[in-house]
Amino acid sequence: MDCIFCKIANGEIPSTTLYEDDDVRVIFDINPTSAGHALILPKAHAASLLEYPAEKLGHVFEIAQKIGQAMEKGLGADGVNILANCREAAGQTVDHFHVHIIPRYASQPDKDALVIETHEIVKPDFDALAKAIQENL
Ligand code: 5GP
Ligand code: ZN
Repeated sequence: MDCIFCKIANGEIPSTTLYEDDDVRVIFDINPTSAGHALILPKAHAASLLEYPAEKLGHVFEIAQKIGQAMEKGLGADGVNILANCREAAGQTVDHFHVHIIPRYASQPDKDALVIETHEIVKPDFDALAKAIQENL
C-alpha cells in the first residue's frame, strides 16, 4: 500500500524522531499548528483510530501522555490538545491513524495558531441520541 505515514513510521522516509518503540514513532507535523506540534504514528497501518486494535490503543495514549508532559516541562507549554481526526468529515487528511499532540501557549500567538470554533446547533434530543449510541455499543 502506498501510504506516506507507513513509510515514515517504519523509517523508509527519514524524519526527526522524538520517540520510537516497536509500535509507534513520534514526529513533528510538517505543517505545525503550534511550536512543537507532534504526531504519533503507529507502525502498523490502520485507516483511523476507529480501525486500530483496541488492545493497542492504551499504549498509543500512554505515549501521548508522556509526550504531552514533556512538552509542558521542556517547551514551557501551558497545556496540550491531544486529538485524532477520524474520516474526512472530521478533518482527517491522511488515512493512517495518527494522534496529534499540540502544545498550547497562552498569550503567545507567535507560537500558537490553533483556533477551535464552535457555533450553536438545534438543541438535541439527548435521550434519543443516547439510545442510538447505546444500541450500537
Ligand atoms: P489530519 O488532518 O489527517 O488529522 O492530520 C494530518 C497531518 O499530517 C497534518 O497536520 C499535516 O500537516 C501532517 N502531514 C501530512 N503529510 C506529512 C508528512 O509527509 N510529514 C509530516 N511530518 N507531517 C505530515
Ligand atoms: Zn499507513
